[in-house]
Amino acid sequence: MVIITKKCGAEEMQRKKCYDKKTENTGKCVLKERNYFMKKYDYLIVGAGLYGAVMAYELTKKGKKCLVIDRRDHIAGNIYCEDVEGIHVHKYGAHIFHTSDKKIWDYINQFAEFNNYINSPVAVYKDELYNLPFNMNTFSKMWGIKTPAEAKEIIEKQRKETGITEPKNLEEQALFLGGRDIYEKLIKGYTEKQWGRKCTELPSFIIKRLPFRFIYDNNYFNDRYQGIPIGGYTPVVEKMLDGVEVRTGVDFFELRKEEPDLADKIIFTGMIDEYFDYCLGALEYRSVRFETEVLDCDNYQGNAVVNYTDREVPYTRVIEHKHFEFGKQPKTVISREYSSEWSVGMEPYYPVNDEKNNRLFEQYRKLAEKEGNVIFGGRLGDYKYYDMDKVIAAALARLEQLS
Ligand code: UDP
Repeated sequence: MVIITKKCGAEEMQRKKCYDKKTENTGKCVLKERNYFMKKYDYLIVGAGLYGAVMAYELTKKGKKCLVIDRRDHIAGNIYCEDVEGIHVHKYGAHIFHTSDKKIWDYINQFAEFNNYINSPVAVYKDELYNLPFNMNTFSKMWGIKTPAEAKEIIEKQRKETGITEPKNLEEQALFLGGRDIYEKLIKGYTEKQWGRKCTELPSFIIKRLPFRFIYDNNYFNDRYQGIPIGGYTPVVEKMLDGVEVRTGVDFFELRKEEPDLADKIIFTGMIDEYFDYCLGALEYRSVRFETEVLDCDNYQGNAVVNYTDREVPYTRVIEHKHFEFGKQPKTVISREYSSEWSVGMEPYYPVNDEKNNRLFEQYRKLAEKEGNVIFGGRLGDYKYYDMDKVIAAALARLEQLS
């Protein structure tokens, strides 16, 4: 991979020699040299995150000439890892790869060997500590019970008291699944901190991301395959971009002004509303601020992910990065996550897929369809709360449609 941390030079076109057949007066057919300009790249890929990198890898394999640019001064988007004290710090939040799709698992394993990390977060509610996701360990601690039948009886009783039969929002969905105690202690505060909205105003699919099970199993995911790439995520993207021209620290909108004819096609993985200059209004996103500290101890919290589920604690979770890779370093690095509404100048992390925003996105999507030579994709381009496996699947599906 060639990374150039400066803006493109002036020369974006290549001069191609071509010969026109001309029949001169003599009746003799001669070849006359003509110069014309062709675009320098087949694809300009905006964003060096996972979607852009998969696109660049596959298109380069097909013989297409790609240029990848990124506004940030590094590749790998939000899966970027930074080495601190020999620990791979997930700079833009914890990423645990998980999928049930063997094709996607095999695909990502081309670029890295994965360890056997299983995500099992712990939730802290005031001075109480619970296992996540919601499982028999959680219920046993919550109610002092032992069997699934006892847990089901309590949840059923609490569910009946709410009177909910068809959940219409996240609050109703959570009460329906786990009853009032689980909702009040483990869901309400965390969710309202993370999304900055009342649970009654959020879509129920968000809480359905989490398993809810009546066995003693703290695995946060139900997927068949799970792990962290040994060496972190940055080398995965580096491998995908091997042999591809990459320019970091380059803003697409500036570049487009300077060099409008750089490539035949554009793959845009940034915010779709920004691409259209917010002409239909701004979509909402959530951003995250990280307070990262190096601590002079080898094990701070005994787990990679600890969620703080009560409203009073201002952060949502604390990540201790070394535990993703079973690190044995003498020091440790932790990150506290603070959620906030996105505004210009911040990094967007999560689309807010409620009805209002989905409707607006649909209008942008229609505009996008009319942009003949631009493909939109990734979490921001598709405005979807994608996990990494779904990003790869979406990129591969889109590639199949390209000639
Ligand atoms: N959630 C919760 N309590 C927790 C963890 C998660 O209520 O301790 C809810 C919350 O609404 C969150 C959703 O579950 O937005 C999905 O959580 P996930 O861990 O998948 O979020 P991500 O890792 O993508 O930030």
